[in-house]
Amino acid sequence: MTSVTTSPRRLLDLDRAGLSAWCAAQGEAPYRADQIRRWVYGKRVNTFDDMHDVPAGLRAKLHEHFTLFESQIVRHQVASDRTEKLLCELADGEHVECVLMRETQRRTVCLSTQVGCAMGCVFCASGLNGVKRNLSTGEILEQVLRLDRLLAADERITNVVVMGIGEPLANLNALLPALATLNEKGGLGLGARRMTVSTVGLPEGIRQLAAHGKPFNLAVSLHAPNDELRNRIVPVNARIGIDAILAATDDYFQSTGRRVTYEYVLLRGLNDAEEHARQLGGLLARRNAHVNLIPMNPVEPLDMAAPSAVQTAKFVDTLERAGVNVTVRKRKGADIEAACGQLRLQTETVPLDVVAG
Ligand code: SAH
Repeated sequence: MTSVTTSPRRLLDLDRAGLSAWCAAQGEAPYRADQIRRWVYGKRVNTFDDMHDVPAGLRAKLHEHFTLFESQIVRHQVASDRTEKLLCELADGEHVECVLMRETQRRTVCLSTQVGCAMGCVFCASGLNGVKRNLSTGEILEQVLRLDRLLAADERITNVVVMGIGEPLANLNALLPALATLNEKGGLGLGARRMTVSTVGLPEGIRQLAAHGKPFNLAVSLHAPNDELRNRIVPVNARIGIDAILAATDDYFQSTGRRVTYEYVLLRGLNDAEEHARQLGGLLARRNAHVNLIPMNPVEPLDMAAPSAVQTAKFVDTLERAGVNVTVRKRKGADIEAACGQLRLQTETVPLDVVAG
């Protein structure tokens, strides 16, 4: 008999069925898979050795076949509002960020799905150097577990937002199994309604997310009320168009019953005029929509800024008078540059032509 040796795999890349099948192949009882997962997702262990009710022989096999955490935390920042941010170095030396935000009862984690981003939004730090690769399911889940282990014993993650680096709907093959694990009882047991996927607006991906059948919250980064302006701010829009996005979000609402959120980064002098608010109101007033205005977070090499508080208030007022539900996003972790992509950017050099463009 020949034995095949392979390099260890990331345990977190296996779902429940995959781990059960592995246990069976090792001659172990299937319930061992649930036992192992309880340690990983429920009891916050960092090594296989700490899985006390797993027999030593099985723990040795786990060591031989799998890694548990593969990333290194190369920076850990804690803001004055107790927002915490990790810069994780992946096994291949690439970097991603993830964030833990605390509000009275909520503990929200913000996750990355890709190394870099291909969408090219002109105000965003994540895409300045394009996309390098997709994260795997395990690399997405590892961010959650790393942040979970920063919590006190009596704290629990209550919400997940997929609003870190990357375009989540461009990596649905890895993201959907990760969300399924976060959702299921033997995982984190988080209701789909407590999870939000934020997208630049890829209609095909929105439909695939709806077809998954769980009522995840959908947030669409609109940032402009007409295609001419959106093409300038969100270049990928030239291949999509606002009409196609709204057709997909209408379908999303139909099939999941979840009200869609539209994110709108306010950029001084670019998309913050009252006329833009009126147009946006025209698009959204008859839809079951929520607008989340995000004053631009400064990004080091970019020459763009948030409008004044007065201009922002006018924008809100115009939208409200059009009958649209609107909030202005609170800034969390501002003193640690918690907005997406900013820490990772410091690990990279930005080509000058990108900055100048
Ligand atoms: N690719 C996804 C996730 C991006 S991050 C998407 O486009 O939705 C989540 C939100 O932060 C998006 O709305 C994004 O446009 C916004 N964002 C990115 N850079 C920002 C900045 N510098 N200031 C404010 N918001 C920013």
